[in-house]
Amino acid sequence: MKNPFENAMTQLDKVAKIKNFDDEFIKKLRQPNRDIRIFIPVKMDNGSVKIFEGYRVEYNNALGPYKGGIRYHPEIEINEVKALAFWMTLKCAVAGISMGGGKGGITVSPKDLSKGELERLSRGWVRGLADVLGPYKDVPAPDVNTTPEIMAWMADEFAKQSGYKEQGATLAPYQISLKHSNSEDKEWLKNFGAGFTGKPIEKGGSEGRGSATGLGGFYVFNSLRTYMNLPEKCNIVVQGFGNVGNNAAKTFTEHGHKIIAISDSKGGIYNADGLDIEKLTEHKKNTGFLSGFMNSKNITNRELLELSCDLLIPAAFENVITDKNAGNIRARAIMELANGPIAPEADEILFKKGIPVVPDILANSGGVTVSYFEWEQNLKNEHWSEKEVFAKLHSMIEDAAKKILQKSKESKTSLRMGAFILALERIQAKTISF
Ligand code: GLU
Repeated sequence: MKNPFENAMTQLDKVAKIKNFDDEFIKKLRQPNRDIRIFIPVKMDNGSVKIFEGYRVEYNNALGPYKGGIRYHPEIEINEVKALAFWMTLKCAVAGISMGGGKGGITVSPKDLSKGELERLSRGWVRGLADVLGPYKDVPAPDVNTTPEIMAWMADEFAKQSGYKEQGATLAPYQISLKHSNSEDKEWLKNFGAGFTGKPIEKGGSEGRGSATGLGGFYVFNSLRTYMNLPEKCNIVVQGFGNVGNNAAKTFTEHGHKIIAISDSKGGIYNADGLDIEKLTEHKKNTGFLSGFMNSKNITNRELLELSCDLLIPAAFENVITDKNAGNIRARAIMELANGPIAPEADEILFKKGIPVVPDILANSGGVTVSYFEWEQNLKNEHWSEKEVFAKLHSMIEDAAKKILQKSKESKTSLRMGAFILALERIQAKTISF
């Protein structure tokens, strides 16, 4: 199996064959502007010091400051971060926001750390990278295993590293109540808070950011349902029960669709009559597992991907559908809420089988779009209502989906290639000649 960056470059080669892009432009896109590796010392609770490896890949900033999440995972390595940063570049372009693409990570199993260790590690990541971060340079956000709380620690640390001192205040910056009346709050948000998105609401986060990726996926589904030839009410299978999988499952259920199977890293559960996602969330909170949920049958992640259903939503990790299992997929359509879940060889197989795939850079772009709204609100010192956020998100997603469909029809290619064409045309138009 190829690593995610090799997969990303295979996709780039493919689009360059379909559409005549400038050769030098494609050549430049084969490497990030920079990839940075840092070593983070953390004092553990037992008094020892442990060194963790961290990354930030700043892939491309032709459209605006680098933008993208930070992933905490024991197996993360540079090729994964590079691939994710490349896809962020294209995702921001597709979404129509003036941001470039980046991604970060730390090789760590966050479940093995105490809260204090997690905070020290997160602050250490910012200390190692403070020089290259900031609202107009590079704006990180949550990704797998990172949370609004972690973003608040990071924004606070970034302010400290940048020499921020509150004028005579007794509160630490992260404790400031953001009522948008105090000039000091405004300064903090504009100069430092805006450097991180996905913050808690009381620290300047946007309404709706938590559910934005799942909800955005639902808007994409509605825009493309007729194209995918799917019924009004679908039987859906979701892989992943993190922020994205969980929120997507909730949103689809609320609108009358049935989630017939769902999984986390430990395995999945199946019920042909549909699962109650609210109760399942409660069950997982109490037991730590999906298995054992009322009226459901345990299945493996592999079996889950091969279930017969209307829509399959991979919402976990890269490379879960490859040439090994693509032939066994029985879903009528696939929507990628994870980044890079389908390897290029599998894409070909699915295309030949006539199974439409809604690509990650469109399907999960709701998260970064609301991150962009958060950044804009912080810079303008505004606070938009959830209704306003969702209305803006809806119209941007519909527009992106429509344009991608048009591109893929014009070039008689897949939605993924349509999305790549749209993104690369926008990035090329803003690329300074070199
Ligand atoms: N981690 C998310 C993604 O992969 C969101 C990034 C952001 O909000 O900057 O799209």
